Amino acid sequence: MWDRRPRLSSLGPGMPGPTQPWAAVPHGRNGFWSPREAHSRLAQDNPLRGRSRTAEMGATPTNSRAAVDEIPDGLWGKCTKCGAMLYQRELERDLRVCKHCGFHFRLGARDRIAITADPDTFVEHDAALAPANPLAFPQYEEKLARDQGKTGLLDAFIWGECALAGVPVAMGASDSGFLMASMGSVLGEKVARAMEFAAASRVPLILFSASGGARMQEGIISLMQMAKTAAAVHRLGEARVPYLSVLTDPTTAGVWASYASLGDVIAAEPGARVLFAGPRVIEQSLKIKLAGGAHTSEFQLEHGMVDLIVPRREMRATLERLLGYLWSPPAVSGAEPP
Ligand SMILES: [Zn+2]
Repeated sequence: MWDRRPRLSSLGPGMPGPTQPWAAVPHGRNGFWSPREAHSRLAQDNPLRGRSRTAEMGATPTNSRAAVDEIPDGLWGKCTKCGAMLYQRELERDLRVCKHCGFHFRLGARDRIAITADPDTFVEHDAALAPANPLAFPQYEEKLARDQGKTGLLDAFIWGECALAGVPVAMGASDSGFLMASMGSVLGEKVARAMEFAAASRVPLILFSASGGARMQEGIISLMQMAKTAAAVHRLGEARVPYLSVLTDPTTAGVWASYASLGDVIAAEPGARVLFAGPRVIEQSLKIKLAGGAHTSEFQLEHGMVDLIVPRREMRATLERLLGYLWSPPAVSGAEPP
């Protein structure tokens, strides 16, 4: 999977940036060429083969390595699904969807909100909520620090209030780049707080889920988040405030088995993996062979677990339309809920 996540700055003016630049993300994985590979591939098709860009500008390269380093790392990448060559800037403009096969690359939490919320309207809540190590699990703190540096987030979920097509909403998104957005005490608490805020403020809630499941380093505390978030969804329902759940790749295990599958409307991105247990676990425990594609959003749609599949480019307009069906913002005078 392509986990270098360039900032979609052109799409999200006013979005607060991560505390550390994404340039800090480790290079050389998941289909991206290293600078040396990129240079050699570009040189194969280049009429100026053998001449460095430095030479073109009139300067003299001191050695071949200097020329190689001029190619920015991560400029080109390969589609995970179809293998087509993709220019990174173009991919950003396409909202990180392959223009050849429609494969949806993963998106960071801030970028997700940037392409969904009205510009300059997102105000983050609970930004200072940081995870602890309640069970003194070995190497947990090191992993937290690593992914905090990589994503610029304190934990795998952000939420806040914003507007969508002028309608005030609460919105949250998971970031699979942070410990695979596993649900620990902070993620569960933030999801529950987002729901309580939506119920109290009477604004619809939109959550973009992505998760590898419960966070094993927090043991039973992690599992308790399933009950807590499910209870918060119930209270949201009692308040008659709509909750739109959007599943992105991957939405699995404890998150799929709790708040992600409890939306009033459940939408999913095409091709997203949506499952409770992985194929290997099922095959080993139940001794059955699963059909191909049994864990995709399309399969869940076919079996009634998902309401609609929405390509990323149509997501904002679809959410706007759903809000139009489900919600009339109360008048300022405090009118009765719809
Ligand atoms: Zn592709």
